[in-house]
Amino acid sequence: MQFPVYLDHAATTPIAPEVAEAMAPYLSSRFGNPSSLHSVGAEAREGIEAARESVADALGADPDEIVFTGGGTEADNLAVKGACLAAYGKRRHVLVSAIEHHAVLDSARSLRVLGFDVETIPVDCTGRVSAEDVERRLRPDTALVSVMTANNEVGTIQPIEEIAAVCRARGALFHSDAVQAFGQLDLNVRRLGVDLLSISAHKVYGPKGVGALYVRRGVRIAPLLDGGGQERGLRGGTHNVAGIVGMHAAVRGLRRGQTEERARIAILRDRLVAAVLAETPGARLSGHPVDRLANNAHFCFPQIEGEALLLALDADGICASAGSACSSGSTEPSHVLMAMGVDRDVARGALRVTLGRGTTREQIDYAAGRIIAHVAELRALRRL
Ligand code: PLP
Repeated sequence: MQFPVYLDHAATTPIAPEVAEAMAPYLSSRFGNPSSLHSVGAEAREGIEAARESVADALGADPDEIVFTGGGTEADNLAVKGACLAAYGKRRHVLVSAIEHHAVLDSARSLRVLGFDVETIPVDCTGRVSAEDVERRLRPDTALVSVMTANNEVGTIQPIEEIAAVCRARGALFHSDAVQAFGQLDLNVRRLGVDLLSISAHKVYGPKGVGALYVRRGVRIAPLLDGGGQERGLRGGTHNVAGIVGMHAAVRGLRRGQTEERARIAILRDRLVAAVLAETPGARLSGHPVDRLANNAHFCFPQIEGEALLLALDADGICASAGSACSSGSTEPSHVLMAMGVDRDVARGALRVTLGRGTTREQIDYAAGRIIAHVAELRALRRL
């Protein structure tokens, strides 16, 4: 069996060989600055524009609606702060769901110093936001609503089309963080009806530190980085050419056999969930039972500490997560589980397992066996 058994694809994915291959020339001979007028610059510019077309195509957008960023966090910051800064003085209400990634939550909260009124939209026990609830909370001065396409911890998929429709009807901009959904769901910005949508390359077998924000034509946002006027003035700074070319190759890779791959992964995920729930008394599957990302299994095991379980699994060569990679290291239970109404003590025993291209049935059976054994051991130790 292949070690490590990497089951943390929501944190990041391995770089696909074709991605590294596509990037290599841009780290050596194709070193040009895409803003330069000469031929070396043109070569880099062509790389970026080809990537823009491919990312736009993958989202059902037009190339001039794509802004390359330094990753998902930056795309979220640009969407939330950029949309609100552009509305400054005209609209001052912001709605964000309680289970957003901190890139959205903290971006919204940072706007309070400017006088924005930031309101949190609650979720039900499966982690879902209701479009009716969003509609009730909308105000004439709502500048922006932000609800993620799918949650990074528990995998719950949101009713984005419905939420977008109520926002559009009431004249509020709608942003969705699709960092986890990209590559896992078929996203089409026109069908979804979003105004702004964030994605990141490293969740889809591309490089870290590169992402994109879809900005619907006609939507005004303020830049966060002023500089050389790159990306139509929305993101100053010399482009990360190799990263953007890598994102292009990663997006190309998503087109191949996606449906079969998602079905394969969902079967493996269901096998893991069934085994763990059958053999571990009190274990719960968090998130929505059906409307969840195909590669996500998230458990809460009462009477254990998730971190102890993670360390035990790591010693067995299994890489998983207690929740989101970004909040690991903190002893506070996840804000996502708290928002879903999970009991604090139960939330401490969280384990997120996220599958990917390299995951095999053998690895899943091994991981299920080790999870079951370690939860029993850790509980027995607690009783001593
Ligand atoms: N949004 C979500 C839902 C994520 O899961 C992540 C990364 O974990 C981010 C945003 C941040 O993306 P990046 O790591 O590219 O900054």
